[in-house]
Amino acid sequence: MSASSRARAMIEQDRALAARSAEAARLAAMGPARIIAIANQKGGVGKTTTAINLATALAAAGHRVLLIDLDPQGNASTGLGLPRNARGRGVFAVLAEGLPIADAVRNTLIPGLSILPADPDLTAGEMELVTATGREKRLKDALDAWPGLLGCAFVIIDCPPSLGLLTLNGLMAAQDVLVPLQCEFFALEGITQITQTIEAVRRRLNPGLSLHGIVLTMYDRRNNLSELVAQDVRGFFGKKVYETVIPRNIRISEAPSHGKPVLVYDFKSPGSQAYIRLAAELVDRLGAAPSRAA
Ligand code: ADP
Ligand code: MG
Repeated sequence: MSASSRARAMIEQDRALAARSAEAARLAAMGPARIIAIANQKGGVGKTTTAINLATALAAAGHRVLLIDLDPQGNASTGLGLPRNARGRGVFAVLAEGLPIADAVRNTLIPGLSILPADPDLTAGEMELVTATGREKRLKDALDAWPGLLGCAFVIIDCPPSLGLLTLNGLMAAQDVLVPLQCEFFALEGITQITQTIEAVRRRLNPGLSLHGIVLTMYDRRNNLSELVAQDVRGFFGKKVYETVIPRNIRISEAPSHGKPVLVYDFKSPGSQAYIRLAAELVDRLGAAPSRAA
């Protein structure tokens, strides 16, 4: 190599290094990713639907997002186009065997949105996990060790409908909990358990955790009960309750069988538009939100 081409190569190398450290500084200045667990011990309240569509709406707004499917049923994975037979190793292998997140993370059809899917044997993995040491911190440790976290603006965790070890892993890894609440009778009773759990985890295990907000789901404006429940919940939880309400919308329930978020399945539907507003309200409520471009 001639002296001049050697010099050119060195300059190129310097430039690449400078660009890399500038990128690292840019990411560091934006602060850490917001890690949000979607939790409620009740099944069928809209956790998975909210996880999929909130994550999609955030990605559509230009944020880079990771969705973690912590539910053994794997509905978030299926709903994002990864049916059981198309999934390799996922979050179970990460939790139970220490597989690096980088080896399990997958792209989705949405630019900027990746997923750590549920593997088909998550239940067996959970049983193994019960006897493992540091078992409630496995997800947090794995995220901390994942270089990709630095490039993420949001991590959305879809928790299973129980308050077991998997949900605990979600609450240990998160700073914020978003609780979907179905507009139905006894909604308030159901929420006590999750708020007490959040409080217990905050006191004993994860001081950085807080109840970020409550989102009313499956709101039916033709049904007076929906409005009564909404008023009740707002009366009790005040500003914690999101102004955005997710309406009951058939398109939302159809979308998963097509392996698509409702935002892709039918962008103009009231359900899609509600999730876009929910994402905007979330970013707004978080204030100086990280804005890492996808
Ligand atoms: P969870 O994860 O809390 O168990 P899901 O998100 O899976 O709840 O929702 C339960 C069922 O209700 C699913 O069949 C889903 O498609 C449907 N669903 C959720 N939200 C809505 C909505 N806003 N309108 C109509 N159907 C909904
Ligand atoms: Mg679910």
